[in-house]
Amino acid sequence: MGHPPSHTKRNTKTKASAEVAMSHSHVTARMRESTIAGMDPTYPADTEAYRQQMKDFLDEHLPSDWGGIGSLPSDDRHHWQKQWRETLSEANLLAPHWPAEYGGAGLSRIEHVILNEEFAHRGVPTMGSNDGFSIGMVGNTILHWGTEEQKQHYLPRILDGSDVWCQGYSEPNSGSDLANLGCKAELDGDEWILNGQKIWTSAGMHANMIFTLCRTDPEVPKHKGISFMLVPMDQPGIEVRPITHIGMKDHFCEVFYSDARCPKDNVLGGVNNGWAVANTLLGFERGIRATVLALPFRAELDSFIELAQRYGKTDDPTTRQKIARFHTAVEILRWQGYQALTRNLRGEAPGPESSITKLQWSKYHQQVTEAAMELAGADATIGFGQGDVSGLGAPPIGTPNTVPNWIDSFLIARPGTIYAGTSEVQKNIIGERVLGLPKEPRADGGSWKESQSAYS
Ligand SMILES: Cc1cc2nc3c(=O)[nH]c(=O)nc-3n(C[C@H](O)[C@H](O)[C@H](O)COP(=O)(O)OP(=O)(O)OC[C@H]3O[C@@H](n4cnc5c(N)ncnc54)[C@H](O)[C@@H]3O)c2cc1C
Repeated sequence: MGHPPSHTKRNTKTKASAEVAMSHSHVTARMRESTIAGMDPTYPADTEAYRQQMKDFLDEHLPSDWGGIGSLPSDDRHHWQKQWRETLSEANLLAPHWPAEYGGAGLSRIEHVILNEEFAHRGVPTMGSNDGFSIGMVGNTILHWGTEEQKQHYLPRILDGSDVWCQGYSEPNSGSDLANLGCKAELDGDEWILNGQKIWTSAGMHANMIFTLCRTDPEVPKHKGISFMLVPMDQPGIEVRPITHIGMKDHFCEVFYSDARCPKDNVLGGVNNGWAVANTLLGFERGIRATVLALPFRAELDSFIELAQRYGKTDDPTTRQKIARFHTAVEILRWQGYQALTRNLRGEAPGPESSITKLQWSKYHQQVTEAAMELAGADATIGFGQGDVSGLGAPPIGTPNTVPNWIDSFLIARPGTIYAGTSEVQKNIIGERVLGLPKEPRADGGSWKESQSAYS
């Protein structure tokens, strides 16, 4: 195995990737002339002004030598992202799609998509850390299901950073079968008293609020006795214990509720209506971010090609075949993004095709990072990289193309096929809703309480 020369930035175009990029721009041009499977990937001409506005905003606020958030030393990123959040807040761009009365900019869907695209191209986050939960999930859900009082109270607190949220859905005995959850909430005067446990709570150690699915009626079938509660975490009844994951980072935690208290009015969408609220939350943002999903994977693939060059493997037929397969996978992801966008702009809910995309990117990411480990051989047995701030997909744009950073990505790719619905669950959805195969047998017609005693 050859020794790699100096490290260069990921996302640097190599000759091989430049050829690929050229061929894919030809494909893009050809595709633009037609409408594929009900998809129109061209943008209306009158949106160009907004695109230019976003480009100008980024030029004005980013340093001239900006190379993407991944290029910052890991110790500086958190601080930078905090400051960036303030910049976005001042420009009214933190929750740009929210109505102005709740602190948003009232952007149209297509403007929001363009904002996401321009930020993604420059490797800049559109939010602060935890905002995926605070704005993307619970904020949007409060906007949809909340009472006027809940909206007036919680939405400004999210934007000014007073409340930082995490997601309390999964439990040790309910992950894929989420509706089986057992965290109990009982009404005591003006408060709910919560007892139970949540697990795999991402970034729970940075949050002061947790949206919690609770069992409020055990006597009815499992989907019908659940409520969605807005629970303060700064109280003696809540204990947070971090879990160290395979990448050696404190990504998530366990949350224990021992007579934890939650005000009576902190139920979102009505008592025992939590299953509908929970599903609304899961559907948010999928369409809006669909067209930027492929971008970091493209940058990562460019880095893979460069790594193959560094290790002298670009003439190796097996490596070449892999590059061709990976290129195809990233292109499919990109076109699926346009398909999802088209649905979103038509006002349609994300369909079962989002399961196809999830299945595909999570598997692809494992394949490309495994292939990088194979290229690096014995070099891939040493150390960890600088850590990832963008979640669990491809590393942020600008991440240095080092073997330790590939080790990080390889490890981070493992849970990709588990969180946000496992691959097996996605296949069930595709089988039942896309292919029309017979449904899985369901054995849960009776009350949730009876089903628990049947298993005990
Ligand atoms: C990195 C990461 C971050 C996460 N963050 C959060 C978070 O912030 N908040 C939160 O609430 N949860 C979070 N989760 C939890 C996540 O939602 C669950 O891990 C996931 O839903 C799977 O549940 P489980 O782990 O209990 O596995 P199980 O559901 O017990 O599954 C075990 C195995 O059985 C398979 N299986 C289960 N049911 C079926 C079926 N019907 N047909 C075929 N196969 C099946 C699964 O595919 C899997 O292989 C996170 C998980 C990870 C890995």
